[in-house]
Amino acid sequence: MEFETPFIGRQYALPESTREVFDAHRDWLAPHFFDYSADLLIFSFHTFILKTPHHTILVDTCVGNHKERPLEHWHMRDGPYLEDMRAAGVAPESVDYVMCTHLHADHTGWNTRLRDGRWVPTFPNAKYLFSKDDWNFFQDLKEGDPGYAALRDSVLPIMEAGQAQLVDKDFQFDDAVRVEPTPGHTPGHYAVHLSSKGREGVLSGDLIHSPVQINRPDWSSKFCNDPDRSRETRIEFVDRYADTDVMLFAAHFGGPTAGHIRADGDACKFQVVEG
Ligand SMILES: [Zn+2]
Repeated sequence: MEFETPFIGRQYALPESTREVFDAHRDWLAPHFFDYSADLLIFSFHTFILKTPHHTILVDTCVGNHKERPLEHWHMRDGPYLEDMRAAGVAPESVDYVMCTHLHADHTGWNTRLRDGRWVPTFPNAKYLFSKDDWNFFQDLKEGDPGYAALRDSVLPIMEAGQAQLVDKDFQFDDAVRVEPTPGHTPGHYAVHLSSKGREGVLSGDLIHSPVQINRPDWSSKFCNDPDRSRETRIEFVDRYADTDVMLFAAHFGGPTAGHIRADGDACKFQVVEG
């Protein structure tokens, strides 16, 4: 994990949200997901490490160090992300694939690190899997556009190093790992679907920013490129996985992070799996 903190104003991040809904679901939104005294969504920034029989795969690479990001907690970080990853048994050289669910700054940051004044791939032996639709959208950004800084220092150096692989909607490694298209937050946003020994999981990236959206999948975030499409995708996703054994791992859920979507009256709620 890179860091976790009460991060962003509820009304700002989820413009359609109401405090009443948060209050009604306090029993499962507190204490991990919402700071009730400050009215802030609690966000975690973490990378998932997948080990298959053949590969070591990272999903999403957080904010990164030394990056110019004019935002509290993001700007010019100097954190022990790589040291922590080594302590978890993963050396940068050992990573085979880096999957970015989408090309926003907080999902691509550790794609690169600063060496002698240049941005170089952090994982020298990895292929970085970017969705084709995201690349087509982001490559046209201009200086000053939102997302341009991340394109310049965290995506383009990977393309230039020849380490990027553009993937389509039906990409899969094997039976264990496949891309599940979940467009709307960005045009090519993808979730990562896992199957292993009869168990299933889905890494949902930024399709769902806060667990409250499992109860209100109609609430899109301010950061969604196409809020209507994001809403449609999320409603369908919550419906598909409700009351199944598929474990959900979202990019920004703090605390225990993992859990299940469970029916709750007319809607759904998120039930964490402790430990
Ligand atoms: Zn994000």
